[in-house]
Amino acid sequence: FARHFHGLLTKQKIVLSQLCTYVAGSTMGKMTLGNAKFTSVFAVTLLTLLAFVPSSIAFGVDAPMKVIVTGAAGRTGKLVFSSLNKDNRFQAVGLVRTEKSAKKLVKTTKCGLDHVVVSDVTKLLSDEDEEVSSIPKGLDGAEAIVICTSAVPAISKTSVVKAMLKIPLNLVRGKKAFNFRDLKFVYKPGQYPEKVDYEGQKAQIDLAKNLGMRQIVIVSSMGGTDPSNFLNSIGKDKDGNGNGDILLWKRKAEKYLIEETGLEYTIIHPGGLRKPADKPEELILDVDDKLLKNEKRSISREDVAQLCMAALTVGRGKKVSFDCIAREVDEGKAVKSAEEALTEFLETGKTADYSL
Ligand code: NAP
Repeated sequence: FARHFHGLLTKQKIVLSQLCTYVAGSTMGKMTLGNAKFTSVFAVTLLTLLAFVPSSIAFGVDAPMKVIVTGAAGRTGKLVFSSLNKDNRFQAVGLVRTEKSAKKLVKTTKCGLDHVVVSDVTKLLSDEDEEVSSIPKGLDGAEAIVICTSAVPAISKTSVVKAMLKIPLNLVRGKKAFNFRDLKFVYKPGQYPEKVDYEGQKAQIDLAKNLGMRQIVIVSSMGGTDPSNFLNSIGKDKDGNGNGDILLWKRKAEKYLIEETGLEYTIIHPGGLRKPADKPEELILDVDDKLLKNEKRSISREDVAQLCMAALTVGRGKKVSFDCIAREVDEGKAVKSAEEALTEFLETGKTADYSL
């Protein structure tokens, strides 16, 4: 029987069908010849049905949850993607902007190329477009998406040249030769916050909806309640013109998710992102930029990635938006895991107030 159905069966189902063949074979052996025809028909029917039953159901094992990580070649995205890849509860697919980023992700995480999809999120079509046929291949069946994309500012080359030309004058005047304050940050054409952090993020949210996903996790940023935050000035000139306002565009996309979609979500607003500290650190979660009052308000990308993992487990079925930083604690002090910290926070019932 197994040979007969070989072409139809997947790897796992072959094991299943072999098991059935064994059972059917030994049952038939005990039957009389008069019953053989009926038994054969019964066994074929049983095998055919079992061959199409997902192994997860047949064996009572949960199938891994397929999760898309966007910005997967970025510094936080890569950590989320790697953590998912190592955890057999999940099946990770990384969405990256370019072929170059795809190669980088495959090289650093040793994942197969079939786990990577190349797509520029500013070119994904949103719900308002008539055609939704541009959905990249390889994303079907995903249950959740972790959004780690962001417009990335780069130092303007012109500002570097200008700062260098100022060096002799600065030296004559007894000032610091190179003033880092003279450097300007700019976004690449078409890759500024309105395009990536609003339109691109909104298109990812629509993609999640169109693919029937349940849950969205967003790595955003703290500071969204303050239009005068320094990060909003990046990309603008002295008169405030230009393509900046990264935190405001991120917040607008979050509002769209919360108010327009009905999907489950975990929105994470980290403080400044950095490497892990030498000492153990405890996570501190709160809302509405209250943590900005702290002198130290940063968190490692590793901790943020673990909070994304926690969002996919203890955060399932929830709708929550929070800020997070990490604080060094004395060696030997027990610190809560990201799952424990998020569970405790969820119990408070707090979530960000988007009317602020
Ligand atoms: P990152 O390394 O800058 O990565 C951003 C990723 O977004 C990159 O992989 C980039 O792809 C991708 N991306 C940009 N435009 C895209 C597009 N149009 N289509 C597809 N992908 C695109 O990120 P990070 O520093 O880890 O930050 C993660 C998140 O935390 C961001 O939302 C950031 O704003 C936020 N955050 C950062 C800080 C901080 O201190 N840096 C603080 C708080 C919050 P390529 O690699 O191909 O360019």
